[in-house]
Amino acid sequence: MKYTYFFGPSLTEGNAQYSNLLGGKGANLAEMSNMGLPVPPGFTITTEVCNYFINYNDFPPDLISQMNSNISCIEKQMKKKFGSAENPLLFSVRSGSKVSMPGMMETVLNIGLTELTVRGLAKASGNNQFAYDSYRRLIMMYADVVMEKSNNIQAHDNLGIRSDLESFMDLYKKKINCYSDSQLSGDDLKNICLEFKKIIYKKFNTRFPDDPYVQLRESIKAVFKSWNGERAINYRNIENIPHDMGTAVNVQSMVFGNLGTNSGTGVAFTRNPSTGKNIFYGEWLENAQGEDVVAGIRTPNPINEDSRSGNSNEPITLEKKYPDIYNELYTIKEKLEMHYRDMQDIEFTIENKNLWMLQTRRGKRNGVSSIQIAIDMNKEKMINEKELLNRISSNHLNEIMLPCLDPAEESNEPVIAMGLPAGPGGASGKIVFSADTAQKYHDNGLSVILVRKETSPEDIHGMFAANGILTSRGGMTSHAALVARGWGKCCIVGCSKVLIDYNKKTMTIGTNKFKEGDAITLNGTLGAVYGNKISLIDNKIHDNDQFNQIMQLSDQYKRLGVRANADTEKDARTARKMGAQGIGLCRTEHMFFSPNRILTMRKMILANTTKQRLEALNELLPHQQKDFYDILKAMTDYPVTIRLLDPPLHEFLPTSKKQIEFLAKKMRISFQDIKNIIDDLHEVNPMLGHRGCRLGITYPEITKMQATAIFNATEQLIKDGFKPKPEIMIPLIGTDKEFIHQREIIDSVYHKGNYDFQYMVGTMIEIPRACLVAEDIANHADFFSFGTNDLTQTTFGYSRDDIGGFLKEYISKSILENDPFASIDIHGVGKLIERAVKKGKENNADLKIGICGEHGGDAKSIHFFNKINLDYVSCSPFRVPIARLASAHSNL
Ligand code: PEP
Ligand code: MG
Repeated sequence: MKYTYFFGPSLTEGNAQYSNLLGGKGANLAEMSNMGLPVPPGFTITTEVCNYFINYNDFPPDLISQMNSNISCIEKQMKKKFGSAENPLLFSVRSGSKVSMPGMMETVLNIGLTELTVRGLAKASGNNQFAYDSYRRLIMMYADVVMEKSNNIQAHDNLGIRSDLESFMDLYKKKINCYSDSQLSGDDLKNICLEFKKIIYKKFNTRFPDDPYVQLRESIKAVFKSWNGERAINYRNIENIPHDMGTAVNVQSMVFGNLGTNSGTGVAFTRNPSTGKNIFYGEWLENAQGEDVVAGIRTPNPINEDSRSGNSNEPITLEKKYPDIYNELYTIKEKLEMHYRDMQDIEFTIENKNLWMLQTRRGKRNGVSSIQIAIDMNKEKMINEKELLNRISSNHLNEIMLPCLDPAEESNEPVIAMGLPAGPGGASGKIVFSADTAQKYHDNGLSVILVRKETSPEDIHGMFAANGILTSRGGMTSHAALVARGWGKCCIVGCSKVLIDYNKKTMTIGTNKFKEGDAITLNGTLGAVYGNKISLIDNKIHDNDQFNQIMQLSDQYKRLGVRANADTEKDARTARKMGAQGIGLCRTEHMFFSPNRILTMRKMILANTTKQRLEALNELLPHQQKDFYDILKAMTDYPVTIRLLDPPLHEFLPTSKKQIEFLAKKMRISFQDIKNIIDDLHEVNPMLGHRGCRLGITYPEITKMQATAIFNATEQLIKDGFKPKPEIMIPLIGTDKEFIHQREIIDSVYHKGNYDFQYMVGTMIEIPRACLVAEDIANHADFFSFGTNDLTQTTFGYSRDDIGGFLKEYISKSILENDPFASIDIHGVGKLIERAVKKGKENNADLKIGICGEHGGDAKSIHFFNKINLDYVSCSPFRVPIARLASAHSNL
């Protein structure tokens, strides 16, 4: 079996397509060699060997002989010998998995230096200082990576062998009054090497190996072991990288950037990675090895004027100092970009004025630069429109749409707690613990973060006033999450580390104590909480040409319609501005959250007789009619799906004594009577209780009032010259009989009212039974809209408001891949949806089908909805652009 792949000027066995086997770094080293670029020769040990090693704790039998023949080949090309006392060849050993995991695995440089070969290196280079500096670097790295970390020796407080050796070296320098490593002479470094070895022996009771082959073999093993190091495993968990992918190992001949002033090393990006501008950007260090640039031991210099940070003290650029080398590097960067058709992140070394390329990979970038690069590369005819769209992720788009935290300030603040990222973007402000205080602070012009255990409709004004919302309980579709996302508001929910004392108006997070008025900051995109103020950067999205161009292209390539979930005229206007092609869900109960209407709503819910209920409904009718008029007007010519009342009753019942007293007075009944009604209405499981169509069936007058309000508003709009397109949606249907019952009421309101316009009546599909009898319901319905929030809740049996309590544990134990309320569970809930679509369309070919649960704004879910042929998705107005892009992605 073939375990190694050679690369170098004379022979290259792999190419960029081999990244499964050779990892990204190995495949790209092979690709650069194939392109004729100056790559120091070497070989890549495959990811299959890594998996073998992890299973058997040993190399496969043939590996050593394959490595030896590669080594002979390199020796010939480099005209040096591994282990030679005259002109020794040295190797670097570097990890490289298919997906880049920067800094997560280990590297060992200068392998092959021994008591004997270090003298050979000194002789061949004529530079004693360089040879012993290289040796001390090897000893340090090897002791740290191979002798300590790979043997699972835990360093206390991060004070491992590396820190012991560094302290010794610092002390040595102090003793001889020298301030930088470069002032140490060859003899100094020789002494340091000797002392290093003594310290190592004392610590591990094992000698630093004086055999080049042992060094090489053990370093390779250490890299394989680092695949399963804690750091790497955590990173893979966060980034969703499979654990069985394994890493390749690149064994490459060393070239030296630390050979003196004609040598150096650097890192560059073919375009600016922060702005995306087409400007070559990079840093270099003279007389240094690569680790010095990355580790920040010395401050690097800019490679050209464009890379200058504005600090006038920065020394000379590579372009000025070595124009020929800079030009050669510039030509290579152009070649690489044309070849890969993407921005590259490159590493290079200059050894005695010879340029060597050590790495190229796809450059990591933020949202702004990602979009700039994709648009520019399309203009430069490097990529086509489809590729342009594919290069922009929903996260990138999100990033440019939302106010975000200043990245420089954020990187200096420690995260004090993590919760579920319910509403993306950033928010900074003073903490308050009640909605009223939030409102008060807001009215006084202050930024506020509303901190609650959970939120309820009672809090809505405070939530609206707040810049950000933080709750200690709740999941991604909890009240707080849903409302916040609808407004594009920054929100973190289920942050269980937050302990709130409403009485004392304090919150504790670990050892941090906060009182009302203290400043905190939320990163709602990550779910991170910070204990201080961090500045925000605003994004003016509609003036952004790039945003508009991406949206226009998305619409050109998508098939799915994109609507918005909107409950007010304002939301409807925002939705149109964001490009929504209609409203997919107007939640009518949300219209009653405002303080003056909630009273009427409560009267209606608490009514003891039909007469009382009719009284309350008559009070609600004009409000409803006006709301529908305004929303249908804002959406003229576009469909508006209005859902009949669906409140889980507990959300509207008064809770405090004060509220009950107030209501008793208004309803002219006794406090005790109201209390008794509330007790009667109390439900153990309100989300499975008297809500949805069950309300309309027990109290048909509610359905009648709502249908009347919709039809009256429609009639008036037509008179006023608009083109309303109402679609009435019946919630929580489980049987066709329920649907027929409600439809008959609606149709009879229409006929009795002598109206004359088109309307549709359809249903939400949000209960598993509705999916299983979809064919029966489809016989009577004009449309289906999947309510995937409730469908997920009822299919899994997980409460959508309480999943926060166990979700993290479920994900960390791989019981769930992700939050099923955020991204649709294709294997379970998805199967029910697929069935309902198929059977529904079989019985009613004209059935229009959409989805209006929170999943309508999730890119991964949108791919699924496109695949199973839904007609549209509906999501909160601020997610509409993301849904447009994701719909295009799923259709490319
Ligand atoms: C749903 O259940 O998916 C839905 C959209 O309705 P609500 O969230 O209002 O229950
Ligand atoms: Mg629902």
